[in-house]
Amino acid sequence: MSLSQEYFQRALKVIPGGVHSPVRAFKSVGGQPLFFRSATGAYLESVEGKKYLDFCQSFGPHLLGHRDEEIAQAVHETVDLAWSFGACEPYSLELAEWIVEKIPWIENIRFVNSGTEAVMSALRLARAATGRSKILKFEGCYHGHVDALLVKSGSGLAGVSAADSAGLDPLQVQQTLVASLDDENSVEQIFNQHGSDIAVVIIEPLPANFGLLVQRETFLQKIFSIAKKNGSLILFDEVISGFRVGLGGMAERLNLIPDLVTYGKVIGGGFPVGAYAGKKSLMDFVAPVGPVYQAGTLSANPVGMVAGLTTLKKAHRLNLFTDLENRTNRFITQINQLCEAKNWPLQAISMGSLFWLHDKTSSTIRALKDIPSSQSKTFKAIFHGCLEQGIYLAPSGFEVGFISAAHTTDLLDQVVQKLESVGQKIFHGK
Ligand SMILES: *Cc1c(COP(=O)(O)O)cnc(C)c1O
Repeated sequence: MSLSQEYFQRALKVIPGGVHSPVRAFKSVGGQPLFFRSATGAYLESVEGKKYLDFCQSFGPHLLGHRDEEIAQAVHETVDLAWSFGACEPYSLELAEWIVEKIPWIENIRFVNSGTEAVMSALRLARAATGRSKILKFEGCYHGHVDALLVKSGSGLAGVSAADSAGLDPLQVQQTLVASLDDENSVEQIFNQHGSDIAVVIIEPLPANFGLLVQRETFLQKIFSIAKKNGSLILFDEVISGFRVGLGGMAERLNLIPDLVTYGKVIGGGFPVGAYAGKKSLMDFVAPVGPVYQAGTLSANPVGMVAGLTTLKKAHRLNLFTDLENRTNRFITQINQLCEAKNWPLQAISMGSLFWLHDKTSSTIRALKDIPSSQSKTFKAIFHGCLEQGIYLAPSGFEVGFISAAHTTDLLDQVVQKLESVGQKIFHGK
């Protein structure tokens, strides 16, 4: 038994399924999860001492790669000064001021500890600000694990949702309506029926938690106009796209300004930080100014604040967003050329420094229904083939990959070469 396997057997005894988040299990790819002891730059090191080039990057926070030196230094300095006070401090102020200065439409920001918490708080605010109770989400978008958003499309009537987890409050599930991505009609139908009850439309402007489902700009514009007409707010959940596809996230790329935005992942530079933000007039609903209660013992912890600010400043200074996007484009172009030349049933798609390997299809994948049914099976083979070659992908065919500043063009070129041997093995004879 390997050391990872030994650890996993022990973990199974004291932790549900041996993991603290289901996406860490190898359930959809088979086998047992590896245990990692350390990480540097683009690499993970397993407890056995084997190195893996890491495309998971903790599911997105590490824009600069693992333990970037500049962040590490700032974090060490901060740890020597402050951990958490439960009182006012300048660290979060500096991060807030920097973001407000750089992103013109953000006037106020409140820090929390995770993306889930940011979304949960923003929903409460939206309900208070509109005096309405229903929310509209899209199937295939993930917004964390708050009850109201762990729902999927129910069968039958337009917009009716069904629980996507056991143990949800059925009243909350009822308050959430579900529309289809890439489908203006589904949004219009739901608004025709429930328009005056919908507090907020929540969407990942770049859905990246169920594959990478790049939306048509006209679709997103249409959602804005329908919501506006009906007096509903728009919440862009940029937990994964924020500070990754550009400083101002998808909102900036699309030139669509949401009423509220949520951040997570990159904003904490690898530490637990989330945030929700928007115009002052709206954020003024939050306590202690307004009636919406939201609090946090460890919110805006100095270490996370400093890690986040150092990350954002460095990315901005080096114009990393464009640089990473170019590297990612080159990477997926090479993969696609390879797969086409070999006639392998695999394609890659990217946006910014996010990419997704998916089963070949002639149509553009914009909604769940467009994802080829063999995706899981193909990915399972790719995943294990890559692992053998020392490449770690997130262990599910519906998770995206992340390119960090530590993923140099040289490293990515080597990955393409390795993918060639992986492909020869899996697609041999196809
Ligand atoms: C990751 C993610 C969340 C949840 O964030 P956590 O920090 O895991 O709670 C919410 N929304 C989106 C778009 C995400 O990618």
